[in-house]
Amino acid sequence: MSGAAAWAAVLDRLDDAAKLTGVDPDIHRMLRSPRRVLEVSVPVRMDDGRVEVFTGWRVHHDTTRGPAKGGIRFHPDVDALETTALAAGMTFKTAVANLPFGGAKGGVRCDPTVMSLGELERLTRRYTWEISPLLGPDKDVPAPDVNTDGRVMAWLMDTLSMVMGEDLPGSVTGKPLAIGGTLGHSGATSTGVLVTARAAFNALDLPFAGGRAIIQGFGKVGGPLAFLLSSAGMRVIAVSDVHGAIHNPGGLDAGELSEHASRTGSVVGFEPADPIAEHDMWALECELAVPAALAGAIDEDVARRLGAKVVVEAANGPTTLEADPVLDQRGIICVPDILANAGGVTASYFEWAQSRQGYAWDEETVAVRLRQRMDEAFTAVWSKAESLNVSLRRAAFGLAVERVADAIAARGLFP
Ligand code: GLU
Repeated sequence: MSGAAAWAAVLDRLDDAAKLTGVDPDIHRMLRSPRRVLEVSVPVRMDDGRVEVFTGWRVHHDTTRGPAKGGIRFHPDVDALETTALAAGMTFKTAVANLPFGGAKGGVRCDPTVMSLGELERLTRRYTWEISPLLGPDKDVPAPDVNTDGRVMAWLMDTLSMVMGEDLPGSVTGKPLAIGGTLGHSGATSTGVLVTARAAFNALDLPFAGGRAIIQGFGKVGGPLAFLLSSAGMRVIAVSDVHGAIHNPGGLDAGELSEHASRTGSVVGFEPADPIAEHDMWALECELAVPAALAGAIDEDVARRLGAKVVVEAANGPTTLEADPVLDQRGIICVPDILANAGGVTASYFEWAQSRQGYAWDEETVAVRLRQRMDEAFTAVWSKAESLNVSLRRAAFGLAVERVADAIAARGLFP
């Protein structure tokens, strides 16, 4: 999916939400443009001595409800509009989860899979320095996203702290525990997907235990999710990654699969399971389908062939604009990304709060509060969908736009 298509989809969903909830047209117009877009060039000394120049972005979509919040991704498809679309997605996600944040996203257009650790560190540090005027615990708080992790966040936090001349643990989330990260951050997105999936099944009166699930993507979110769904009694019958997909109607052993994937680098070749084309995986009859990879995975064609009763969006933007009405017509319930994958940013909120307070919570406190927040967000969206008689996506966008609009109205327009 191109960045332009991703941004067009966000605008379409925003326009619909504004109409649905009747927000002030001036506020609606304000939300149609990002607050600021910074494009930077990132020169990096490569291991062979040559200098390669990458392009990076950091976008703040809206910061009315609090500091800008959102991940940083390293991927060849990153561009200004994709980053803007994802930043707007964060504005709406933090509003649905009722967190005191605005929406941001950043990224560098690069292929980290062909870069050495040293090259990645130099890229991260130079990119951080270039976007540093925007960053800080009260301004903009990055986190991991596609192809970035705790190690990248540690480099980012170190670079910013060195530049500013003070220790700034609250300037980034998803940090390693050794420098003020929180317990429970790494699996938080997957836990949130589990909580919202279970809540959706309950609300729909569908049994969760014994249900069949398919997962597209076996990375930071899809991997732990296979384990969580199996532990909750679901049968995970197929999973895919960039290399291919595997299927076992009797259910895959999530623990053994994860061990196989970390040993071989892919789910492909796992036994007992048969290879299956990802195209055919979507059509498998099951109760739950979880897209946990990149944007645009469920297009109109996949939506027509989808064999699941419920879709829970672990990835950002996995369902295209054209696929939405097809899912609705087919009676397939879709729990949208800005609700379903908000567990990650909710754990980030907990980490930010702990870093600022200099007081670490225990694991149980993080787990209980995460479940509680995700349940509250689900209930708020579900009630909105019932009262407006619309899909969960339209309700989630409606709820988010209302909350952001309330904040904009309360603060008023400067100057
Ligand atoms: N990258 C995650 C997301 O898209 C987490 C963002 C954050 O914690 O700031 O929601």
